[in-house]
Amino acid sequence: MSRTKSHEVFARAKHLMPGGVNSPARAFGGVGGEPIVFERGQGAYLVDVDGNQYIDYIGSWGPMILGHLHPAVREALHAAVDQGTSFGAPTERENGLAELIIELVPSVEQVRLVNSGTEATMSAIRLARGFTGRNKIVKFAGNYHGHVDSLLVAAGSAAATLGVPNSPGVTPGTAQDTIVLPYNNLEALDQLFAEHPDEIAGVIFEPVVGNMGCVPPMPGFLEKIREHCDHYGAVMIMDEVMTGFRVAMGGAQQLFGIKPDLTTLGKIVGGGLPIGAYGGRADIMGHIMPAGEVYQAGTLSGNPLATAAGIATLQTLKDTNPYPQLDSHTQLLEQGLTAAAAEAGIPTVTGRVGSMLTLFFHNEPVRSWDDAAKCDTARYGKYFWEMIERGIYLPCSQYEALFVSAAHSDADIAKTIDAAKDAMLAIKK
Ligand code: PMP
Repeated sequence: MSRTKSHEVFARAKHLMPGGVNSPARAFGGVGGEPIVFERGQGAYLVDVDGNQYIDYIGSWGPMILGHLHPAVREALHAAVDQGTSFGAPTERENGLAELIIELVPSVEQVRLVNSGTEATMSAIRLARGFTGRNKIVKFAGNYHGHVDSLLVAAGSAAATLGVPNSPGVTPGTAQDTIVLPYNNLEALDQLFAEHPDEIAGVIFEPVVGNMGCVPPMPGFLEKIREHCDHYGAVMIMDEVMTGFRVAMGGAQQLFGIKPDLTTLGKIVGGGLPIGAYGGRADIMGHIMPAGEVYQAGTLSGNPLATAAGIATLQTLKDTNPYPQLDSHTQLLEQGLTAAAAEAGIPTVTGRVGSMLTLFFHNEPVRSWDDAAKCDTARYGKYFWEMIERGIYLPCSQYEALFVSAAHSDADIAKTIDAAKDAMLAIKK
């Protein structure tokens, strides 16, 4: 597979943008080598600037659940463009998207539209603090909530209760109000709330982790967060930026039957355009300005194009209910990849919920960041490149979930499994 033009374009990009990219996740840091430069997407496929075609299991890191260039989304965008692209004033489409979110996401009574998942989580934790009058936010190691300063915090040593910055530029002062706990660890939660009964404003978490590879919650974990938030008056913030409209129409909260106080959304809610949202209990959302005093704003928030793509995507999901097919396709893929690895004598385990899947190069269950950190990432890198050579575009890191879309066919899944059989034999050596 020749990628001469891709190489040329990226060589130029490296002079123009830090690391040649506008977001590090796409830089191939986790697998080595250069990112591929793309020209277009159609259905389940991506085509690079050299004309090579790949079956796409990234879907722009989640949003493209309907596949690329879905006719409904395309038409909605064309119609919106013809009416003007931004007014900085109320529009009817904002109501349309808000109504769909409120209808579909069980716990959301009121919603505010923003421009990214990061803005959604940043605003939700500010609201939790403003609402409770408390400072501390709890997060879990290996969960990612965007590049919000106070959430770019890693577990401290020893007690793992005091956060330390994990990026230069995040001040110790900011980090100290974030407490980091191990995911899926019920005792750690018990202990923390017992030690800080009146200080915790909110607990933010991924209900199914996508950002350390796909790691489902263990039975009782989400329930325990709910129980402690109720008991101690903390705000439960379910970060459904990735899982929202992905693991079920109503997200993880519908799948697991747990109602958070606030929910953050992104990715699918904008159908491939930049958007995010946060919403939840009306009595909490009522504290957001101008209804209340917690400040949050945005020049482009509720943008006509983004809301048009979001409405078209959610409406199509509602009309077509692709979830059973997404589940069965991804289950087939999970079984096929696992069998391919086993045939080559390579130990792997999987994490999967609906159409989110990770094949971990590890021989024990992955339930937390400490488990995930033990994976053979070098082997993952080799597997990734062998799959690229066979026209399969997987996440460029062991620590990202792959996404199956409604556009993937039986033949796409079968082709991917065949490619994996060859790839596993190739990396066995
Ligand atoms: N929360 C979660 C769970 C995410 O996966 C992401 C992005 N991958 C974010 C928040 C941040 O969203 P964005 O990149 O749109 O800022």
